[in-house]
Amino acid sequence: MISGGLDSLLAARVVMEQGVHVEGINFYTGFCVEGHTHAIRKKDRARPKRNNALWSAEQLGIKLHIVDIIDEYKDVVLNPRHGYGSNLNPCLDCKIFMVEKAHAWIEANDFDFIVTGEVIGQRPMSQRRDTMPVIARDSGAADRLVRPLCAKNLPETLPEREGWLDRDRLHAFSGRSRKPQMALAASFGFTDYAQPAGGCCFLTDRQYSVKLADLWQSRGRRDYELDDIMLLKVGRHLRPRPGFKLIVGREEGENKFLEGYRKRFVHMFPVSHTGPLVLLDGELGEGDLELAARLTARFSKGRDAASVTVQAGGPDGKVQTLDVVPLPGEDIPADWYL
Ligand code: SF4
Repeated sequence: MISGGLDSLLAARVVMEQGVHVEGINFYTGFCVEGHTHAIRKKDRARPKRNNALWSAEQLGIKLHIVDIIDEYKDVVLNPRHGYGSNLNPCLDCKIFMVEKAHAWIEANDFDFIVTGEVIGQRPMSQRRDTMPVIARDSGAADRLVRPLCAKNLPETLPEREGWLDRDRLHAFSGRSRKPQMALAASFGFTDYAQPAGGCCFLTDRQYSVKLADLWQSRGRRDYELDDIMLLKVGRHLRPRPGFKLIVGREEGENKFLEGYRKRFVHMFPVSHTGPLVLLDGELGEGDLELAARLTARFSKGRDAASVTVQAGGPDGKVQTLDVVPLPGEDIPADWYL
């Protein structure tokens, strides 16, 4: 199982060192940090714009299977049996689900066991001494699940018993320190690997989780489509009232991304000054278009001007122009910002 991070890269390599044929499997949930949205902001310009799972596979010289699990994954996010972590991250259910999918895949494709980069104590929810056996058990993978980076701290697995893997050449990493991984990476000559800070997906991000919870609350139901969760990754989100939200592009890269959604949303942008593209989500009530235009003006270069001209368009193709006074910053309640 290749996430694109260092641990799964190392785990695969440790097993390959023992002459095992490895192929990579990577699951795409829609919440992944990987992908286009992580690279559209100016501050991220220096980051390599690459899919790190593919990059890992390339470093290892193995085939990679990228599996889209967007639809099936919804139930994991919406109804996690083991609950959420500190944000809306259902890490334990997520790991169980992914290992279960990998297990079905190896059975269908005639492989013998699954390798993950998990390390005991590395993450608070899914990589604990008491939860790692739960993943092996509830996924159905049982002792066909090998964690080469911490295998010596865990009971023997089938590949070790069968002599397919030499337990002595596996590792006993534990805890949050990244030093053993970095030393192992250096010994393999890996230098340019990805270092995700909080986890492999946006669900571990507090701000993102606030926006997702807000989406559910405003719609009165816990559900989402791929576009919904993509849009939560981009822009400044303001909710002036329960059924009405604005998504404001913060810079050119985000404006360009949001442009792709103009046909689905009422949207607006200033024409007299440089400024953001703004999508309006929800049912517009009396005065909402004008309020949105004043907010659009507020986030434009014309924020101090007496009047800003804003062009609004809808999915029906109708266009209208509004001349508005930018909304003063002090008139925007703090709780509008998600
Ligand atoms: S961080 Fe996201 S992808 Fe990783 S285990 Fe947790 S929920 Fe799953």
